[in-house]
Amino acid sequence: MAAMKTTSALESRGQQHKYMTQSFQKVRALTGMKDVLPDTSAEWESLEATVRQWLAAYGYRNMRTPVLELTRLFTRGIGEVTDIVEKEMYSFTDALNDEQLTMRPEFTAGMVRACIEHNLLYDRPRRVYAMGPVFRHEKPQRGRYRQFHQIDVEALGFAGPDIDAELIVMLARLWKLLGLADIRLELNSLGQAQERAAHRQALIGYLEQHKSVLDEEALRRMHTNPLRVLDTKNPAMQDMANNAPRLFDFLGAESLAHFDGVCARLADAGIEYTLNPRLVRGLDYYNLTVFEWVTDRLGAQGTVCGGGRYDGLFELLGGKPSPAVGFAIGMERLLDLCSQAGQEPALPECQIYMVHQGEQAQRKAAQLAEDLRDAGLRVIVHAGSAGFKAQFKRADASGAVAAVIIGGNELEAGAAGVKWLREGAADDPAAGNPAAGDPVAGDPVAGGTAAVGGQQEAIPFDRLVTELKSKV
Ligand code: ATP
Ligand code: MG
Repeated sequence: MAAMKTTSALESRGQQHKYMTQSFQKVRALTGMKDVLPDTSAEWESLEATVRQWLAAYGYRNMRTPVLELTRLFTRGIGEVTDIVEKEMYSFTDALNDEQLTMRPEFTAGMVRACIEHNLLYDRPRRVYAMGPVFRHEKPQRGRYRQFHQIDVEALGFAGPDIDAELIVMLARLWKLLGLADIRLELNSLGQAQERAAHRQALIGYLEQHKSVLDEEALRRMHTNPLRVLDTKNPAMQDMANNAPRLFDFLGAESLAHFDGVCARLADAGIEYTLNPRLVRGLDYYNLTVFEWVTDRLGAQGTVCGGGRYDGLFELLGGKPSPAVGFAIGMERLLDLCSQAGQEPALPECQIYMVHQGEQAQRKAAQLAEDLRDAGLRVIVHAGSAGFKAQFKRADASGAVAAVIIGGNELEAGAAGVKWLREGAADDPAAGNPAAGDPVAGDPVAGGTAAVGGQQEAIPFDRLVTELKSKV
């Protein structure tokens, strides 16, 4: 077991505390819950920025709902007989007030609750979105985590096929913006309650006849939620599911007209799709249009985005009946695709790294750094005291284009030393790219420009901001 060591600094001060001699066990992140470290975080931030711009272009506005909600919001909203509610929710009793709570396993139920609670649709329909973590207790594997992130987009209060199509067209644009190919659209219609009821009878009859191939879960669900049985991933049940009565064949004229309305608009936008009559989606609240965007580039977890219409959910959650349609994108899967397509390199930590020697020089460096930030530059001031050599190593690792050097000589001369750290930076003929450990700063205690040799220029303090601003 790894042990935490006592710090020598404290020891040297003679402060021997009891806890310092104990060893501690490392605490690890929970299974299926990932840390995003600074280098990967840049990919997340870049995706989030693209997503916000993309959504703004269609008039969607952000909303943020709590991670924790009452459990009954999800049992009612998502449906009792679904994978999520049956076996994936992080639920617990809040011991402080005895409430049954659940970490949101998806956004839609919470978004609809918030809209009802704040009467958001009282004067007009709304286009909204949310982005953030959701939680499902699943078996972790590539593309399947216990804390994962969704981009959730909802068009609330719109009934027509025009908005269903708008959402799908939007998604096609997002794939294009991100440079992603090979994501295909699967489409289906779940019709309306009456049509599903007629289909349900036929389906239960069919399942009764094929009981011998049904697994335990299917046997349990065939009477409570037979449609869900068709959603099975069990290879032994695929033939059975493929030949089952298709809900699509039970749709009446109105449902078919809605579906045709969506298809016509997809054709207008040049978007191809396949009709997948087995596509039922993992939640109970859908009706009419349902769709998924799927790729073969992610192994077994190939669904990047799923969505559909859920005209009954507002009423189910105690609100005024309102039509609604939306989708959720799995951000981890999307980022996996983005990195396969080649991401931009991560943004360096800073543009300018300030190295200094001595207290006065540190204070001057901190002041100059503020001036540089006023001018929009990203600046790190070396923290603590260290030799120039060690500071230059940090400057190099930070990715900065230039190091600004302030020591005793610079303070006296009223000019900072500026050393260009990257090849071709600022058209400086003297610019080099010192490898980490390159003794560019010479004697660490010399504390002046002389120590750095001929590789830097002196820029008076009062011209530093303008000069750097124009060159960085
Ligand atoms: P799946 O069939 O893969 O379990 P789902 O139907 O449960 O997906 P949705 O509830 O529709 O998924 O969630 C929307 C999107 O969120 C999915 O298309 C997928 O991209 C992503 N997603 C779902 N579950 C996970 C998970 N456990 N880890 C990472 N991403 C996930
Ligand atoms: Mg699932």
